[in-house]
Amino acid sequence: MGLTNRCLRLTLTDTAEVIDVICGVADRVHLCDSFRMSDVRQNLERALETALAQYVETMGEAFPMVPALDVVDDPIFWAVAEMDGDKFRIRASVGTAHRTASLWGSAFADEEFRESFGKPTGADASMMTHISLIWLMLHELHHCQMGHFDATSIEKLSKKEASEERGLVTRPKRSAPTHSFNTAETNLLIEMQADHDATEMLLDAYSPDEWLSLRTRVAAISAMMMLIERADSSNQTSGVTHPKAATRIFQLLGHVIDMPLLAAHSGSNQGSDRQNHLNNLPTQAEQECFAAQVVVPAFFDAVSLAMVAAAGSITHDLGSANDFFRDVQVAKLISGAGSDEFVTSGAKQWSSLVKFRDKAVLLSLKET
Ligand SMILES: [Zn+2]
Repeated sequence: MGLTNRCLRLTLTDTAEVIDVICGVADRVHLCDSFRMSDVRQNLERALETALAQYVETMGEAFPMVPALDVVDDPIFWAVAEMDGDKFRIRASVGTAHRTASLWGSAFADEEFRESFGKPTGADASMMTHISLIWLMLHELHHCQMGHFDATSIEKLSKKEASEERGLVTRPKRSAPTHSFNTAETNLLIEMQADHDATEMLLDAYSPDEWLSLRTRVAAISAMMMLIERADSSNQTSGVTHPKAATRIFQLLGHVIDMPLLAAHSGSNQGSDRQNHLNNLPTQAEQECFAAQVVVPAFFDAVSLAMVAAAGSITHDLGSANDFFRDVQVAKLISGAGSDEFVTSGAKQWSSLVKFRDKAVLLSLKET
């Protein structure tokens, strides 16, 4: 598609001491009686195990801390990454697994979706639920991996306090800000950062033999982003804690478009591996075919999922395929493009976060 290799990744440097992070959202749902706690626990445990295995697969080493998983019997959709002393803990509610299964169940009950997505990929609701939960676990692992919380702030998150806050907001109370840019935008930015790294790990290296599998993984991620937005929008007390799903999907598909050109991960981006990678870049024809058979369908998968979820605001934020991919091109070709230069809501929020990131980095440099 004639794009330069400018990744849509949003990162904030120098965040380690600033941030304690949670991926937390609240959404009240009613569990069906048949949804057994033991099944849910097993689903979440399997997702975490697979996420950790994927970490080893891509990084060549085990995740530096062994996370404990607490599955909490709560119908609200929320997941929390936290440090408990020197222990890293992921807590996730039963409602998280239930809502994920429920969205995929509805999607595959829709004949049009089965035809457009289920048939070509061979996926089913159970498989897609599992992959969505794996990505959620990877997202939480990456908050820890990137140092998105510090010990001081975590000490304040007593169990009691967390349980009191859970239904409203699952972000722990912070220690005093250490930088002047420790704001709501920072929270959105670090979510984008955790998204990117989790996504890169789940999608893994580009392979011409994995197009259909890749499409399923992208859809699994899009679905989780939508579930979080839906839950976040019901978060009346503390406001939105995560970027729009469309903004996150904008970054996601921006990454997918680049995949044929990118090394799988930093570990293979050096020395002879790097040279080997450059020698084996796919042809232009293959890249165009990839865009037509994976990237564009992935956009329509997201639109279909938003429709199944009756998430009209997400459909609106994504915009038309033409506008969405036009915005992807603008983001890649025009460094520092302002939000006025984008058409879709997701791209506009993405560009304003880029501006914020650049400003934060500048401030950080001045403070050091
Ligand atoms: Zn998060």
